[in-house]
Order: sequence, then C-alpha cells, then structure tokens
Amino acid sequence: MIAGKARFKAAKKIEKAAGYHIPDSAFHAGFLEAVTSRVNFEYLDGPLREQLLQFFREFLSCECRDRPLCGCPEKRFVRRIIELREDGLDHHQISSVLLEEYGINLYPADILSFLEDSVHLLEAVKDIAELQGMKPIVADTERHIQRIVR
Ligand SMILES: [Zn+2]
Repeated sequence: MIAGKARFKAAKKIEKAAGYHIPDSAFHAGFLEAVTSRVNFEYLDGPLREQLLQFFREFLSCECRDRPLCGCPEKRFVRRIIELREDGLDHHQISSVLLEEYGINLYPADILSFLEDSVHLLEAVKDIAELQGMKPIVADTERHIQRIVR
C-alpha cells in the first residue's frame, strides 16, 4: 500500500518532543497515535509544526471514534495523491508537494507505480460496470482514467 511507504521526514524531531521512540512511517499506528496524543507541539519548530498541522487537517480530521486508527488517514492520503495528479502534477511534482506541505517523503517512482496500479484498478471497475450496465460508474471511471493518464 502506498501509504505504508510514506515516511515523515522529521520523525526524529517529533520523537524528541514525544520523549519515546516512534516509527518514521507516517501512517503507522504508532506514529499516528503519537502525533494525535502525546507530542507537545510547543517543542517543535515553526515550519515543522505547520507541516504537522497540515498533516492533521488533511488526513486526520475525521470524526470516527477510533480515529486515528479508523483507516481514514490512509484513504485520504491515497485520495490526495490522485487529486494532485488530476490537477496536472507529475509524480516528481507530487513528491515535492507532499514534502513541502506535509513533511512527507515518498519516492516519485513509488508514486508513479501507484498511479499505474490505480489506472489498472479503475479499468477493472469500468469493465465490470460496463458488463452490469452501470453507466454512471462507467462514465466516472473513464473520466478519472483520462485525468490520470494524460
Ligand atoms: Zn475516520
């Protein structure tokens, strides 16, 4: 899964602020729990605090009872990558945006293969929808495929 490959660049600094070991994998349960409960944000420098706040707003703002372990953060992250691609960014630019906005490191090559996999998945969904005569879904998947592969 693509979210499993996302690393939080300044994880070491957050570890210091938390006072115990945390994983650097941005969507690992241990990392999510640390940043939602035990990190004193005042110990973090301005830019890092801003990235972490953006990370919160974008991926951790659902209202599930078992947040942040509800699965929403990973789903939102996947959706964000697709959105950036559909906005016209290539995999290198997406990688830069993730780093600038959220402090997340994700290799362009991983983003590219994720986008290719997504297209294959959408094509499979489209084929099934076609067989079932589900026209709105066919149209939807076609639109997304076109915007991802252009
Ligand atoms: Zn949730």
